Amino acid sequence: MIYLDHAATTPLDPAVRAAMLPWLDDVSGFGNPASDHAPGRRARAAVEAARAQVAQLIGAQAEEIVWTSGATESNNLAIKGALEFRGMSGAHIVSSRIEHKSVLDTCRYLESQGVRVAWLDPGRDGGIAVEQVLAALRPETLLVSLMWVNNETGVINPVVELAPQLRARGILFHVDAVQAAGRLPIDLAAVPIDLLSLSAHKFYGPKGIGALFVRKRPRARLAPQMHGGGHEQGMRAGTLATHQIAGMGMAAALARERLDEDAARIAALRDRLWQKLGGLPGVLRNGDPARTVPQILNLSFEGVEGESLRARLPGLAVSSGSACSAATREPSYVLRALGRDDELAGASLRFSLGRGTTGADIDAAAAQLIGAVESLRCIAHGGSSGTESTHRGGRASVRDADDESGPYPQAVWRRFIRPAHVGTIAGAVHARARTPAARAQLDLSLRLDPLQARFSAYGCPYTLAVGEWLAETLEREGAAVLRRIDAAAIRAALEIPEARAHCALMGEDVVRSLWQQIESTA
Ligand code: PMP
Repeated sequence: MIYLDHAATTPLDPAVRAAMLPWLDDVSGFGNPASDHAPGRRARAAVEAARAQVAQLIGAQAEEIVWTSGATESNNLAIKGALEFRGMSGAHIVSSRIEHKSVLDTCRYLESQGVRVAWLDPGRDGGIAVEQVLAALRPETLLVSLMWVNNETGVINPVVELAPQLRARGILFHVDAVQAAGRLPIDLAAVPIDLLSLSAHKFYGPKGIGALFVRKRPRARLAPQMHGGGHEQGMRAGTLATHQIAGMGMAAALARERLDEDAARIAALRDRLWQKLGGLPGVLRNGDPARTVPQILNLSFEGVEGESLRARLPGLAVSSGSACSAATREPSYVLRALGRDDELAGASLRFSLGRGTTGADIDAAAAQLIGAVESLRCIAHGGSSGTESTHRGGRASVRDADDESGPYPQAVWRRFIRPAHVGTIAGAVHARARTPAARAQLDLSLRLDPLQARFSAYGCPYTLAVGEWLAETLEREGAAVLRRIDAAAIRAALEIPEARAHCALMGEDVVRSLWQQIESTA
């Protein structure tokens, strides 16, 4: 498996793991950092050492770091905490439509509480401009919340330029720096950001631990969102997780040490991937390369359907949109905001590279992708294009795919990954069916003498499998079988679940249309 999803999460660095283990020890490491005895003091010293390490990564003071459970919590605490402290009624905040869900949903919640939010749209370059933010400010604006680096496109927002402008106007500035930390230099001694969110698992630390930078001078005031023992200067109650915190500290120290080297190496690998994939026709790069971080490459593939593309890459861990919203199965809201239509946003992949990525990974990933894209395009066009490299690239991904049927029934998977009846037959009877929104299309041709059937299809793996099964069945049993095939028969043969019944219905439509033509010519 080639892992190119480091923007979703990174593997734990072995040195980070080693730094965590002593604090999981049941004899010497278990003390509560808030306790006033030797085990407690030991744990507290570890927590404070880690606080200094995290502060160093971003040019802050140790006492400006508040531990949280991750960036989702940091974003909630920063935005809700600031608004609650200053009073919500009549308040106004400025944010953007390309923020992470943990900012979007927090701002939407505040809207439900009467706060007004100005939602900025990104430009075609994928970013938010300084002038856009300034133009959205009002006398009652309390807070601007903007991400440093977008997690889907990797586009860098001009937070460094914006910060002094907001400071001059007395407006609080919160920055979600999850994708920037450890990738770009961050110096909060020089950049007057007030609140900044971090998450350890995005820079080779453990999951479930993060931090919020809360500026001391001038002091950013927050109402706590977690009430309890008054930990973390009253901003975040709860017993501190010593092992997690020690891990985040070590991860921050390593990130700082390796920043330049990682960035240069990863940028070169990213360029190598783009060089290989950019050579394919119909591949679009999302986000302006001139303002993108090294580790992320986001591409849209024309002429292929998104689910089929991802299914054809079983040896590749990449993301479509962001992992956090993968559950909703909606095309990425960030790519739609960039002007990509639903179809193209759905056929987009985010490649995010990391410390462990090698040149061999990049070459193998590119070969799999080229194979998948060319063979899907070939199936969509009835085998009329890309045949040569389809067979070369196609075979590599098929080999990987044999045991990897994923969520698909074997009967579907086998036909999807290795269709044997793709094509169009000159002079044959031909029928076409489409789903209502034309998201999928299925073509079937049949010649009676000698008997031959071929299909072409654009759509999800079920659609392609239906095409293959129909052509296979027709060629084996002859035209008379058309009378017996309906959606129920297709679903039964391929074990198609209810949720995908529409793919079988499209099969029924194409069969009916073919039968009518045969009857009328007979
Ligand atoms: N902000 C951004 C930009 C992110 O990419 C993520 C993680 N997907 C988060 C916030 C949430 O971080 P966590 O997983 O620590 O809650």
